[in-house]
Amino acid sequence: MTAKIIYGKEVANKIKEEVKSKVLMLEKKPALTVILVGENAASKVYVNNKHKMCKKLGIKSDIVVLPEDTTQAFLLDLIKKLNNDKNISGILVQLPLPKHIAEEAVINTVHPLKDVDCFHPENIGLMFAGQPRFLPCTPAGVMEILKFTGVNLSGMNAVIIGRSNIVGKPQAILLLEKHATVTIVHSRTKNIASIVKNADLLVSAVGIKHFVRAEMVKEGVIVIDVGINRIKEKLYGDVDFDEVVKKASYLTPVPGGVGVMTIAVLMQNTLKAYELQQTHNI
Ligand code: NAP
Repeated sequence: MTAKIIYGKEVANKIKEEVKSKVLMLEKKPALTVILVGENAASKVYVNNKHKMCKKLGIKSDIVVLPEDTTQAFLLDLIKKLNNDKNISGILVQLPLPKHIAEEAVINTVHPLKDVDCFHPENIGLMFAGQPRFLPCTPAGVMEILKFTGVNLSGMNAVIIGRSNIVGKPQAILLLEKHATVTIVHSRTKNIASIVKNADLLVSAVGIKHFVRAEMVKEGVIVIDVGINRIKEKLYGDVDFDEVVKKASYLTPVPGGVGVMTIAVLMQNTLKAYELQQTHNI
């Protein structure tokens, strides 16, 4: 079997076109502020990609670059100012942050109605309860890719590698909603290979180049590779693409797979934040 390759671009285009046409109709435009603290090279690339996409869709975008030694108090004060700024629809603080800044404090300070990353506990809670306000960008992007395949997830054995708050945990909730039977494996899991071997659907978000090898997966598995591993300026996924492609039914490439979808959902969330702002008058 040779897998069908699912390119994020194909799936993202429809979402982006929808956002663009809605934004075009608006007199006042949605506005996203992205805060970047420090010199993380990968973060700079992600922030610039988000900025470019905003421009393409008619969304106002502002990048605030702060030095590595920015204090937590300064950052929280800036977020509070943006929370109260009626001209700002969405706020995104690019992670990871320098070690002296507590991510949790930052996430909890962003106004839940401007939380376009869907990291705030209030938004996570709403999603958990099946009443989502925003959807977390990467896991929701994965769900859009799966929808694109047309495959029915009900009853599938879905295995997620990784249990982060950003990818693994929310991914599990979204897959459960589609009636998959979900298993999350992580660094303390015993016998990962045997659990993965049982997967009808595998979502890998471990952050290790070629962690998923062909002998670990069963014939016909759907494989979504969330991993982005930057080695000497080259990007690799978590999946050994050249080998797994011979066994899977569907496979996403890195780059060109999930990453594109993450930005598309961010654009959707920014428009949603703008709409919420109108109804809540904030
Ligand atoms: P993370 O917070 O570092 O989480 C990694 C997870 O992998 C953790 O749950 C960890 O387990 C688990 N893990 C680490 N080593 C393992 C091992 N040897 N065996 C089994 N599990 C292991 O990372 P993340 O933020 O979720 O991101 C994961 C990957 O996705 C990264 O490559 C990141 O760059 C990428 N990513 C891509 C996008 C995109 O748009 N495509 C978005 C976000 C992230 P413990 O919890 O036990 O430590």
